[in-house]
Amino acid sequence: MNRLDELRDGLSATEQRIADACRAAGRDRSDITLIVVTKTYPASDVELLAELGVQDVGENRHPEAGDKADEVEAAVRWHFLGGLQTNKAGAVARYADMVHSVDRVKLANSLSRGAEAAGRTLPCLIQVDFDATDPGRSGVVPSGIPELAAAIAASDHLTLGGLMTVAPLGEDPAPHFDHLVGLAGDLRKDHPEATIISAGMSGDFEAAISAGATHLRIGRSVLGERPPAG
Ligand SMILES: *Cc1c(COP(=O)(O)O)cnc(C)c1O
Repeated sequence: MNRLDELRDGLSATEQRIADACRAAGRDRSDITLIVVTKTYPASDVELLAELGVQDVGENRHPEAGDKADEVEAAVRWHFLGGLQTNKAGAVARYADMVHSVDRVKLANSLSRGAEAAGRTLPCLIQVDFDATDPGRSGVVPSGIPELAAAIAASDHLTLGGLMTVAPLGEDPAPHFDHLVGLAGDLRKDHPEATIISAGMSGDFEAAISAGATHLRIGRSVLGERPPAG
């Protein structure tokens, strides 16, 4: 099978799962954005996905993401999903169409300066981590959301899109997604524009759809298993 056919199959199997989950949850497919996470896969896969109608792709590392964004000619939106060092924020602000992983005021300020320099307005999501005991994990604890939201909303070069989370490995994701959706409701009291709920990956997106996610970030289910990081 050639790669285009492989990706078509992966995409249609994934769309079938999304359709089933939407039906079970009484939700409309058109209220959900599928972001295909292409990290570790080549730019040529992004071109093929675009041929198949994919409009949103996700990447989690700079410079891999920037290199791909440069190389790909198809008009796709680039979602940046990964932990981000402040000194790389300016570069990411030049090509990302949305950053899902804003987890500290310093990073928001760096993205703001980068977006200003690039003459763009950059939509940002706040990454929430419910168990911030592991210092290696990205994300802000729920009590930190209001301050970070205020910093993003105060920038002339950023917009506050909403919230994002990655469910902890090896736990039932449903309570975490419900918690995120509750926090998103609280956030909208002060920031009604912040309507995005980015949750759900290949292993848990049915639970995310059921909880109310608006943006799914799905890699392996469409593209196949990634080779182990070398
Ligand atoms: C890799 C990644 C995904 C996609 O994960 P899959 O298991 O391949 O679906 C989603 N979100 C983030 C933040 C990621 O890094």
